[in-house]
Amino acid sequence: MKNTHNPVSNKISLFDEIHNTCIDCHECQAECAFLKRYGTPRAILSAKDSSDSAFLNLAYECSLCGLCGAVCPVGLRPGEMFLEMRRAAVLAGSAPLKSYKKIMAYEKRGTSKRYTWYCLPENCDTVFFPGCALPGTRPGKTLALYQYLKTLIPGIGIVLDCCCKISRDLGRTRHYADMLSEMKSFLLKHGVKRILTACPNCHMIFTADGAPLEAISVYVTLIENGPPPGPTADGRTITVHDPCTARDEPVMHDAARALARSKGLCVTEMAHFGEKTFCCGKGGAVQFRDPTLSAAWNDKRINEVDDRPMITYCAGCTQALKNTPPVLHILDLLFDPDCLATGKTRQSKWPLTYLNRLWLKYLIKKHENPAVFRERPPAR
Ligand code: SF4
Ligand code: SF4
Repeated sequence: MKNTHNPVSNKISLFDEIHNTCIDCHECQAECAFLKRYGTPRAILSAKDSSDSAFLNLAYECSLCGLCGAVCPVGLRPGEMFLEMRRAAVLAGSAPLKSYKKIMAYEKRGTSKRYTWYCLPENCDTVFFPGCALPGTRPGKTLALYQYLKTLIPGIGIVLDCCCKISRDLGRTRHYADMLSEMKSFLLKHGVKRILTACPNCHMIFTADGAPLEAISVYVTLIENGPPPGPTADGRTITVHDPCTARDEPVMHDAARALARSKGLCVTEMAHFGEKTFCCGKGGAVQFRDPTLSAAWNDKRINEVDDRPMITYCAGCTQALKNTPPVLHILDLLFDPDCLATGKTRQSKWPLTYLNRLWLKYLIKKHENPAVFRERPPAR
């Protein structure tokens, strides 16, 4: 698992690499309000003492979106350096974690006995992992997708739990590693080999740290096996927002567009898409540290929409981009017959999102008859 690394030596080698290799070309800075505020990654490193807590805490203003790495002409990934700085801040005890109480409570609830449910049928080697935001905002469509997956993959199970990316992004490496490791041990012990992810954040976590479990995007599975039948639209033009967590996932980008086309929609691109996509504004939980930096990303995204309906495949992004022209999740197209005609859909908001997750768990418990099941034990 990648997070068993030595954070201190990793931090030093990444800092050195960026300090020695960055050519101060300003390509990354041109795209990013955080870097515009503080300078290029090299300038940030040159101006600060790496043991200084104020310096380490700067990293909490970075959205960890990775766009800097996608535009860097010398192949640097400054976002990874800022994540290392967050980890070092937690180790040094200087991280501003009090600002993140609300989102840490959200994650804690998501991994609690009350909200989790593991449901593995006989001989289950594949589980559907819908994540937190999708069941919260769209419980009926999450269930409909699971029912459809059961027709494609007999013996598929479902896991309602949180991947703990929030802790990973806040630099809480030990907690993140412990939680993920406990989940993996349980799944591997019971014969699970692959995880179908609906949330690009969970996909990123299982791809990076989930081995030997294999992570497959459910949108790729739907394209490979055929999406569910249903009405199609009349060639209306839409655009696709790729979540920044899927920046390095070209197969997922293609699958999302293929699913939109399968519903009769005509896809046109914004200036920033795929590898160069913008963050929705929620990346790195930066909205809890500096809402103006979060809003800067949100504005950049909205400025490129140009009044087209927007489709995405991250329920967190649909929440963040709610003030744009209609933003639909790809599941809205697949499982809401009215949405293609009206271009609108229902998306639950807090606190109903919590009730929705409990309702989904209740329905799965009531109607499934698993060979193996559990609620997650309390974190140590
Ligand atoms: S990861 Fe995103 S927010 Fe952070 S420095 Fe790079 S482009 Fe800016
Ligand atoms: S794009 Fe790369 S080389 Fe250019 S300033 Fe940013 S980190 Fe340095």
